Amino acid sequence: MIEKDDWRLLNDVEYLKMAYINPTDGEEICKHAPHLRHCEFCLESVEDNSHQWWFVPADLSCCICEECYNDFKEDFEWKKLDGWDMEWFVRCPKCGEILRKFLSEDYVYECSKCHTLFSEDLNDYLELD
Ligand SMILES: [Zn+2]
Ligand SMILES: [Zn+2]
Repeated sequence: MIEKDDWRLLNDVEYLKMAYINPTDGEEICKHAPHLRHCEFCLESVEDNSHQWWFVPADLSCCICEECYNDFKEDFEWKKLDGWDMEWFVRCPKCGEILRKFLSEDYVYECSKCHTLFSEDLNDYLELD
């Protein structure tokens, strides 16, 4: 159960109210969305492990560990999806354009809108001339 002053609610998590949530696992997150590294609530680390369950909102804005998911699902009125048609995508770090997941050999993406080149971890992106 959760208390009103649960320390895990100190983060700004209001935006997750009534979100659509897909179940997935650590291995899938590491493969498709490596920029998601911690539980949004308790900061538990994502491990490259198919036995570690995670819950991810449809917009891939964060990930939620199994324990926090179960503790907060009623409070946040999450709508659980089945995960089967979960769409992985990346968001351009510069303009926010949603780009369908496409894995190139070298893990480099080009934004179709602003033509910024960026790498998988989204932290480091290069500008084209
Ligand atoms: Zn957690
Ligand atoms: Zn862009």
